[in-house]
Amino acid sequence: MHLLLTNDDGVSAPGLLALWRSLSELGHTITVVAPANNMSAVGHRKTLHKPLRIDPATLADGVTQAWACSGAPADAVALALKGFLQAKVDLVVSGINSNFNLAQDMTYSGTVTAAMEGVIVGVPALAVSTSARALVEYAPAASWARHVVARILERGLPAGLLLNLNVPRDAQGLVITRQGRRIYHDVIVVRQDPRGRPYYWIGGDEPTGEAIEGTDVWAVTHGQASLTPLDLDLTAHHALTELQAFADVA
Ligand code: MN
Repeated sequence: MHLLLTNDDGVSAPGLLALWRSLSELGHTITVVAPANNMSAVGHRKTLHKPLRIDPATLADGVTQAWACSGAPADAVALALKGFLQAKVDLVVSGINSNFNLAQDMTYSGTVTAAMEGVIVGVPALAVSTSARALVEYAPAASWARHVVARILERGLPAGLLLNLNVPRDAQGLVITRQGRRIYHDVIVVRQDPRGRPYYWIGGDEPTGEAIEGTDVWAVTHGQASLTPLDLDLTAHHALTELQAFADVA
């Protein structure tokens, strides 16, 4: 088996090294193609109007060989799968992100959209996130990621499905969840530049969430690793019937 690892925190982020070390224990071939710089919260960006480069790099240990891509996480995955790598890739794993990716975070997350790009190209994918700063704090997420990757390689994944794994540092077990609801606390800070013109910075406290049982938000706040199956079909199926009235001309 051949695993492609990527992330959105950048090729030298500790979470990517923790993921590489843990998945190496499975004994498969691993290639890393990750953004050269921190590309967190870029969403599903696709770089169409400037050239992209892929240069040799190393992970945070300064030794392990990797490739650094000048584009966004989804660019790195697309380039890797569509020609940069000669060998077929069996699974894309993105992470380990330094913050959880829960609920509506999906639409912002470079970690998750890298996995989405894998699914678009036709390769099964897993996104992994935790809440960590130092390398040692990634250990629980790295261990659960290895567990889930082993399951995927054993059993496969239905076409079009990707998995979103979030692991709190005190994880006692793994539960299958649905997307919950985030509460964002963004505050726009306005300051003046040296020429007297205003600039804006998005700040505020970390997002929280509603503790709805069975959701990803609920799981990580109750000491459980959360595994959510995601589909790129964003249709609100429950609204189709009610919306039919919008089509009536009268
Ligand atoms: Mn990130």
